Amino acid sequence: MEQGLATGASANVDEAVAEGDSLDASQRESMEFDVVIVGGGPAGLSAAIRLKQLAQDAAKDVSVCLLEKGSSIGAHILSGAVFEPRALDELLPNWRATLDHPLATPANRDRFCYLTARRAIRLPTPPYMHNRGNFIISLGSLCRWLAAKAESMGVEIFPGFAAAQPHIEKDGSVGGVITGDMGIGKDGARTANYQQGILLRGKQTIFAEGCRGSLGKQLIARFGLAKDSQPQTYGIGLKELWEIGQGQDGRNGFGHRDGDILHTIGWPLDSKTYGGSFLYRLQAGMISIGFVVGLDYANPYLSPYKEFQRFKQHPLIAGILSGSKRISYGARALNEGGYQSIPRLHFRGGLLVGCDAGFMNVAKIKGSHTAMKSGMLAAEEVFEFLASGATSSGFEVVSYGEKVRKSWIVKELRLVRNIRPSFRLGLWLALLYSAIDCYIFRGRTPWTLRHRPDHKHLTEKSRAKKIDYPQADGKLSFDLLTNLSFSGVYHEENQPAHLRLKNPSLAIGEVAERYASPETRYCPANVYEIIEEQGESGAAADATIRLQINAQNCLHCKTCDIKDPLQNIDWITPEGGGGPNYESM
Ligand SMILES: Cc1cc2nc3c(=O)[nH]c(=O)nc-3n(C[C@H](O)[C@H](O)[C@H](O)COP(=O)(O)OP(=O)(O)OC[C@H]3O[C@@H](n4cnc5c(N)ncnc54)[C@H](O)[C@@H]3O)c2cc1C
Ligand code: SF4
Repeated sequence: MEQGLATGASANVDEAVAEGDSLDASQRESMEFDVVIVGGGPAGLSAAIRLKQLAQDAAKDVSVCLLEKGSSIGAHILSGAVFEPRALDELLPNWRATLDHPLATPANRDRFCYLTARRAIRLPTPPYMHNRGNFIISLGSLCRWLAAKAESMGVEIFPGFAAAQPHIEKDGSVGGVITGDMGIGKDGARTANYQQGILLRGKQTIFAEGCRGSLGKQLIARFGLAKDSQPQTYGIGLKELWEIGQGQDGRNGFGHRDGDILHTIGWPLDSKTYGGSFLYRLQAGMISIGFVVGLDYANPYLSPYKEFQRFKQHPLIAGILSGSKRISYGARALNEGGYQSIPRLHFRGGLLVGCDAGFMNVAKIKGSHTAMKSGMLAAEEVFEFLASGATSSGFEVVSYGEKVRKSWIVKELRLVRNIRPSFRLGLWLALLYSAIDCYIFRGRTPWTLRHRPDHKHLTEKSRAKKIDYPQADGKLSFDLLTNLSFSGVYHEENQPAHLRLKNPSLAIGEVAERYASPETRYCPANVYEIIEEQGESGAAADATIRLQINAQNCLHCKTCDIKDPLQNIDWITPEGGGGPNYESM
């Protein structure tokens, strides 16, 4: 996969750039495709493959391009991941017979524990968390494998190119996307490397950006897609990959056999904070370990990163990790709203798929299978539209929403829809509620619990208790900047910050004064720092504080865009290719 937009038909756009195309009103180079896909995760890649399959079956030519903001496919993919192969079985029924597929570790033993500070109490594994028939994978590796398939079928894949904004046609429909300009300096002026963003026109554009997609967010607002659904809610997931040390591989205790799956709840979180851990033993001597905290947490002093580091000190986890070393670190937000938060999925000229739409099943902690299935359904309906002889954009593929509603995606999300919101009752009542919902009602309760946006849950610092986190020991727990160097994060430094404060004064004003600058704790990459500067006199009254944004550290997790209590932070795409460089996350 070469990085570059060198292929495909190219033309200059002569007409003035349409309404909404605010980056640049001058002429812009453009390329035309039948379908433009934004995002090279499981959803986008499945959509691309399905489109090409249908085109091949019908002996039609459908041009498809896929944009990925990471420097390569998989570079920004972070997941657990226990993978349910249902959608893959539908997409590539013969995948098991191929020699190069990356699903090398079948799920083995499942364990579900409640942790106290010293003990691990085994609980029955909830039915939706059983993993027989599933696989432990690196989702990044699966995406690279899918991308190679897509490319071999003729999909044009452009890694290193971020879709910076939707292209809005004069009639208000979406007609493609515009990639970000390259070579704009910190001061906003063009550098010697300036390259104007390109307009990629599509008769339909499939948005597959994953959780809290930046274009998806704009489109949901622009077309009022969420007006009939509950607000989306989120968690932040932090993950490390550990390599088993030499001589440690023969151990047979839990966590040491290939395919072992451990989930925990309880310590170190208090009973009012939703979250827990996962630990998956992959083949090839790797352990994937992670911690998820619901972003509806209340205490502004909570640091999801430090909770994760503390969690690894638990005797159960320390025992599993001893003799091994951390080789990778990263973080990513995930959707938790489920069934009741699914927005309208289509608008004139485009569709939302995967976690851009919010299809994650939080009770299972799985969203790759639903992401893939939604991508496939979108592809099928878009293909129908193209096959009907469509020559222009602007059409709304309404049938896609109908297909999703009737699919197994919505069926499975509906059955678990009350589990996550029940956790506002606290851990114990929620476990009781979930058991009743699951074992007695089997998910068919006649009610649906509601959500409140995550940023509204933060309490003011005057009512919150400070949390005293232990120092990192450098063996099991690590300070953030050391860990960050294991994410491969890189951004061109001379570019405008891609974290935009709508009102900069709020950050050191209301957010600092009322909420103790929570962005300095929830950001898993130390992007936000409050800097105190002495005045010339050295007197305390003369000191000033400012918020420093270390945008080059950003892991693209999107947590700040979600959790800022005043919704003052806007995450926009930086120059394409910037961000983490995950190998097997
Ligand atoms: C910690 C954690 C653990 C998880 N565990 C599991 C698990 O065990 N099993 C499971 O099935 N699921 C799990 N999930 C959920 C799963 O990872 C997601 O549901 C799945 O990745 C969604 O796929 P997607 O294609 O919609 O989005 P993503 O996988 O997020 O892919 C989106 C892609 O689009 C790219 N992109 C975004 N915006 C742009 C843009 N503007 N321009 C160009 N490219 C863009 C991104 O860089 C990314 O590569 C987990 C998630 C997390 C965070
Ligand atoms: S700046 Fe925002 S998106 Fe980037 S790592 Fe920090 S919280 Fe995540």
